[in-house]
Amino acid sequence: MTAVALTTRASAAAPVTELVDAFGRRAEDLRISLTDKCSLRCTYCMPAEGLEWLSKDRVLSDDEIVRLSAIFLRLGVKSIRLTGGEPLVRPGVAGLVSRLAALEPRPELSLTTNALALADKAVDLARSGLDRVNVSLDTLDREKFRTLTRRDRLADVLAGLQAAADAGLAPIKVNAVLMRDQNLSEAGELLGWALRAGYRMRFIEHMPLDAQHAWTRADMVTAEDVLAVLEDEFVLRPVGNRGNAPAEEFEIVDGPGRDTWAVGPWRVGIIASVTRPFCRDCDRLRLTADGQLRTCLFSHDETDLRAALRTGADDDELAQLIATAVAGKAAGHGIALPDFKQPDRPMSAIGG
Ligand code: SF4
Repeated sequence: MTAVALTTRASAAAPVTELVDAFGRRAEDLRISLTDKCSLRCTYCMPAEGLEWLSKDRVLSDDEIVRLSAIFLRLGVKSIRLTGGEPLVRPGVAGLVSRLAALEPRPELSLTTNALALADKAVDLARSGLDRVNVSLDTLDREKFRTLTRRDRLADVLAGLQAAADAGLAPIKVNAVLMRDQNLSEAGELLGWALRAGYRMRFIEHMPLDAQHAWTRADMVTAEDVLAVLEDEFVLRPVGNRGNAPAEEFEIVDGPGRDTWAVGPWRVGIIASVTRPFCRDCDRLRLTADGQLRTCLFSHDETDLRAALRTGADDDELAQLIATAVAGKAAGHGIALPDFKQPDRPMSAIGG
């Protein structure tokens, strides 16, 4: 289906006012990838040499991102998360944030980052309207960090986290992907560190979205595995009622160094997309850096909003394209199904 064909039909359709799929799920959380490039080379995500990056002309401009965001907000989206690759490798993110913050209704604005550039940019981002950050960090061990990311930059990540806290970005969520025989045993140490620092620790199951297509179910560290390691040291109590939040939350009742923990609530999150999928309540949409709308991380279909934008579609026609895509959103990722096929587009070009 080409954008042009839809555009013609769109103008005749009733104006779109909300984004609800065939399962009654309302899309309210938009993840926008600002670039497919990254400043790290995490072994579970991409090869050491990197990938073939998008050419500049294919990447949405700030004007295009702001225009599309205004349409999504008009259709009921409430929060925008800026992602990558690594979003802060793109120039001018603070300027883009301030334009998004000026939109009506104002979205909640967050950023998923590896924090390498956060120490320099946190104050600017906060002043521009950024509300909070999710930082990816899988280990506190310098050597392990160098092995996992192929870069010796742990100190920069820790400095970035501190700068985010000093700039008033809150809450600060730290996301760790645990790999068997690499950093699974460090889960307790990571949680203890986050509790002392006042960060919200979350552990994420590795998903079949790596560029190398090397992911296997057998190698994956499950939510059960993580909880087993944590419960060796901590007393956890499920919080329940996650709504459409990806993380299953646990209250931390007790554990080592409790008297050194920062002010609560003391929580830990487990994002178990594979073994405890949360697709039933999914409210997320993703816009890739090259302007493709993905209704699910694991979609095999994309809607080309960039082509529509650049061939003169008006806002109503773009809204219709978006609504049509959402109406066709799949029930879930289907990873457990025998015919599951990993999408061609890797996580680094979709965004968390
Ligand atoms: S896998 Fe797809 S449907 Fe499921 S929660 Fe993630 S984005 Fe939503």
